[in-house]
Amino acid sequence: MIDEKQQTKALDADLSELFLRQSQKALLLRQESYGLRIERLKKLKAWVLANTTKIRDAVYSDFKKPEFEADLSETFVVLADINLALKSLKKWTKPKSVPAGLTYFGSSAFVHYEPKGVCLIISPWNYPFNLCIGPLVSAIAAGNTAIIKPSELTPNTSQVIAQMVGELFPQEEVAVYQGGPEITQRLLQLPFNHIFFTGSSAVGKIVMEAAAKNLSSVTLELGGKSPVIIDKTANLKDAAEKIVWGKLLNCGQTCVSPDYLFIHESVRESFMEHLKYFLETLFKQPGENFKETPNYARIINKKHYQRLCQALSTAIEDGASLVYGGDVDETENFISPTVLDNVPLHTTLMKEEIFGPILPVNTFKNHDEVIQYINGQPKALSLYLFSNDKRIQKRYRLETSSGTACVNDVVVQFQQPHLPFGGVNESGIGKSHGHFGFLAFSNEKAWLKQRVGFTSAKLLYPPYSAAKKRI
Ligand code: NAD
Repeated sequence: MIDEKQQTKALDADLSELFLRQSQKALLLRQESYGLRIERLKKLKAWVLANTTKIRDAVYSDFKKPEFEADLSETFVVLADINLALKSLKKWTKPKSVPAGLTYFGSSAFVHYEPKGVCLIISPWNYPFNLCIGPLVSAIAAGNTAIIKPSELTPNTSQVIAQMVGELFPQEEVAVYQGGPEITQRLLQLPFNHIFFTGSSAVGKIVMEAAAKNLSSVTLELGGKSPVIIDKTANLKDAAEKIVWGKLLNCGQTCVSPDYLFIHESVRESFMEHLKYFLETLFKQPGENFKETPNYARIINKKHYQRLCQALSTAIEDGASLVYGGDVDETENFISPTVLDNVPLHTTLMKEEIFGPILPVNTFKNHDEVIQYINGQPKALSLYLFSNDKRIQKRYRLETSSGTACVNDVVVQFQQPHLPFGGVNESGIGKSHGHFGFLAFSNEKAWLKQRVGFTSAKLLYPPYSAAKKRI
C-alpha cells in the first residue's frame, strides 16, 4: 500500500514537472503578439456559449443555484469579461510612452506590459465558475500560463471547468488540479510568478505566508462584513427591494452581500414594512414557502448550515428579536430568509461574515456613531449607503475605508467592468476585473532607451566639484 508520504512525493513530482513545462511555455507566450491571446479568448468564449446548459446544471447540482442566477452570475459575467478583453486588448497591451523630461533629453521611455509568467488561480465555491474563469480571462489576456485549483465543495462545476480546460488548452498553457486544501498547500510550495486567490480572509493569510517564501506577488480577493446604512433621506421602498435582492442572491453566499444594516431610528418602522413586503414577494409568490420556489438556493453544506443556525440561536438568546423567517431544515441545508432586530454588537452575527440569508438590523441616531463603529471594524469589501443627502454621501466617501462602495444600490458595483474590484487589508489585496485584472497579471516593466554616446547624467559623474554640488 502506498503511504501518505509517498503519495505527497508523487504529487510534488507531478506538480514540479507541470510547473517546469508551464515555465518554458511562458517564455514563448511573452514573445507572442496580442492576436494569439485574442484567439485563445475567442475559443473560451465559444465554449462557454455552447455549454451554458452544462454550467447551469452543474451549479444546480452543487447547491440548487437557480437557473437564471447561474446565467446571470456565472456565465454572463465571464462572457462580459471576455468581450471587454477582446475589445480592449490592443489598447491594454500597447506600450505606454512617458515624457522624457529635461534630465533625460534625447532618450525615450515607456511602460511595457509583460506577462508575469506562471500563475496560480485558487477559487472558492460560492460563484464556482465565474470566480475561477474570470481570473483566467485576465491571466490569458495578459499572456500568462495558469494552473487552476477550483473549489472541492462544488465538484460538479469543478468537473465542468476541468473538461473545458482539457478541451481548449494544452496542459503547459492552462491546467486544472482538483482537490481540497491539501492540493492547494502542495501547489503553494512552487515559485509562481503570481497567485490569484479568492476565498476567506483566514485562508488568504495562509496563501500570503506561502507566497512570501518565494516572493510571489499576490492578488487576494477576500471576504468580510459589508455594512448597509439607510438614512432618513433614503427612498425606503427602493432600498428595501434592492437589499432583499442582494441579500437573497445565492442565498446570501456572496462576498459583496449586504451583511448587516444600520437604519436611522426615525424610519425604521416604515422600512421594515417595505422589507417584509419584498421578502414575501420578490423571490416567491405571496404565501408560498421559500422551500417551494425555484428562485432560492441552499446553504452549501452541513458545516455552514450548522454555523449559521448556531449564530442565529445565540443572537436570539443574547437579546435579538426575530422579525421575519427563522425556518430551517437540516435535510436540505435550508435556511429561510431571516431578519433580526436589535442585534447585540458582540454576537457572532455582528462580528463574523454571515455568508447566509440572515440580516441583522440595528438603529442609529446620528452618522458619527455609525462611522465610528465602521472604522473600528476590519475594512469591508463593500459599503452600501442609501441616502439622498449629498453631504452624507461625501462623509462616507471621505471618512470610511472599504474596497468598493455603492450609493443607493447593492452588489451591482461588482458587475461594472470598468471599476476595479477588490478589498483593502482584511478584505483583500490587489484589484481585478477588466483592465485592473489585466494589470494584476502583468509586470509593468520600465523601459528607457538612451542615446548612444550621450547621457545628461554625465553632468552628475565625478569629480563632484563645488559647482556640481550646487545643481
Ligand atoms: P475558503 O477560503 O475556505 O476556500 C477557498 C479556496 O481555498 C478553496 O479552493 C479551498 O480548497 C482552498 N483552501 C481552503 N482551506 C485551505 C487551507 N487551509 N489551505 C490551503 N487552501 C485552502 O473560501 P470558501 O468557503 O470557498 O469561500 C467563501 C469565502 O470567500 C468568503 O469569505 C467570501 O467572502 C470569500 N469570497 C470573496 C470574494 C471576492 O471576490 N472578494 C468572492 C467570493 C468569495
